Amino acid sequence: LFSNLRYFKKQNDFSFVINLKKNHFMKPIIKLSVSVLISVFWMNTSSAQKTQLVKGVKIENPYYSRTKTEKLNLKNKEWKKYLNEDLYAVARENETERAFTGKYNNFEGVGTYYCAACGNALFKSDAKFATTCGWPGFFEPITKTSVIYKEDLSQNMKRVEVRCGRCDAHLGHLFDDGPLPTGIRYCMNSISLEFEGKKIN
Ligand code: FE
Repeated sequence: LFSNLRYFKKQNDFSFVINLKKNHFMKPIIKLSVSVLISVFWMNTSSAQKTQLVKGVKIENPYYSRTKTEKLNLKNKEWKKYLNEDLYAVARENETERAFTGKYNNFEGVGTYYCAACGNALFKSDAKFATTCGWPGFFEPITKTSVIYKEDLSQNMKRVEVRCGRCDAHLGHLFDDGPLPTGIRYCMNSISLEFEGKKIN
């Protein structure tokens, strides 16, 4: 680069610009900048999932992990300390977010969906399909144990409730109007999920 600049001063023409474009020295710089940007983006999205804004204060959730698989059997009182109010209402009190309001309803990112309360891997984006109901839909979980099922007789209906296989957070319900290959629709609350895009490399 410096030799190019000296050359530019000496010649006082624009040939250095052409040289600069040809210069292989620039390629590693561009590569490095892109890697740094991706890493920063990654770090931000990862730490955001561990940290929750609880009553306006940033609180680190000690139970959140992308690698640990042991089951969490915690009382709601404990979860209340680490989950923000909206997530707590859905995950621990079985509330449902309003239709068409969730961040993943019309989302088509390629990657993995984790439990927003504990970090357990739940769904791959290739099992997600477009829905018209107002909530994101998946036709299968990552593994058989990613989620657990419970009979739900609330609101004068007989439904199958879907909960996180690790922390027992309420995720949504199961319906039999999904696409092939399973024909099942895992109707999920966006707020119970955290998406992370596939790592580029
Ligand atoms: Fe969980």
